[in-house]
Amino acid sequence: MSRLITKQQIAEAAENAYTMARVVNGGHNAHYIPYLANVPSDLFALTITLPDGTTFSYGDDEYVFGIESVSKVATAILAMKQWSPEIVLEKIGADATGLPFSSVFSILLENDHPTTPLVNAGAIAACSMLKPFGKPDEKWQAIVGNMTALFGSEPQVLKELYRSESDTNYKNRSMAWLLKKHDRLYDDPMMSLDLYTRQCSLGVNCRQLAAMAATIANDGVNPVTGDRAFPAEISPKIVSMMASVGFYQHTGDWLFSSGLPAKTGVGGGIVGVLPGLMGIAAFSPRLDDAGNSVRAQAALKLFMQTLDLGIFNTTQVELA
Ligand code: GLN
Repeated sequence: MSRLITKQQIAEAAENAYTMARVVNGGHNAHYIPYLANVPSDLFALTITLPDGTTFSYGDDEYVFGIESVSKVATAILAMKQWSPEIVLEKIGADATGLPFSSVFSILLENDHPTTPLVNAGAIAACSMLKPFGKPDEKWQAIVGNMTALFGSEPQVLKELYRSESDTNYKNRSMAWLLKKHDRLYDDPMMSLDLYTRQCSLGVNCRQLAAMAATIANDGVNPVTGDRAFPAEISPKIVSMMASVGFYQHTGDWLFSSGLPAKTGVGGGIVGVLPGLMGIAAFSPRLDDAGNSVRAQAALKLFMQTLDLGIFNTTQVELA
């Protein structure tokens, strides 16, 4: 069975979701990173990008905020591109942790296995396995180059955020050494940690995140630039990782209620992917107890419900 939806229906559903979610005020800015605690809490944006590049965008969609853990999606793609999805599975894993993003148990519970590049431990491991080994500047170029291809424009480090995170990331530091102890770090620990911290401190806007989501939905070709960012075989792999752990300990509840594989960051951003159909991004700084934006979640759910979308639905949806 299949069903057609029009661009007009998408635009109306997005505008409606944006308007309704605007009044959702629960949660708090991330408080453990001083820079994020001070971002204006009422900022809000919603952007949808289709595989032909058509974009519907609402609110503060040009406001530049910290990408934080959404960067883990980009670097997981880069690691799979440089090596292969199978090698990333072997060296890091692709499991649901059911745990907070900074949990050390994600290293210890599964025979010293960090479990997925989409939580802190696995993301530090992903930075460590990037090529070329021992060369932080070139690794950094690879990280930013990959993100530029995904976003359609180059992200810049928010220097104050980088300083704020570097000064307070004691737990991530200890995790880098724990990974090293378990032979799950593939380059210098403090260099790998610094690459991870720097990539989390990159500034992005909601339009860039929607372009990245649409690139994943579009088998690796960025619909805004028309350029291929990664091989098509990586798309289903990264979507499966997002689906299994994108909201940390709330991932199952999220997937159950939204039907949307998505990944959050404590900067307030969320990227969601409907394979073949569209990329969706939302941003708002107030977070729930797992570090997922409350208002952005509300907007994405409303959008999905209005159009009756969801990856588990039996009716195939196509663009008219
Ligand atoms: N940089 C943050 C950290 O390491 C990212 C966490 C997140 O966005 N969930 O804690």
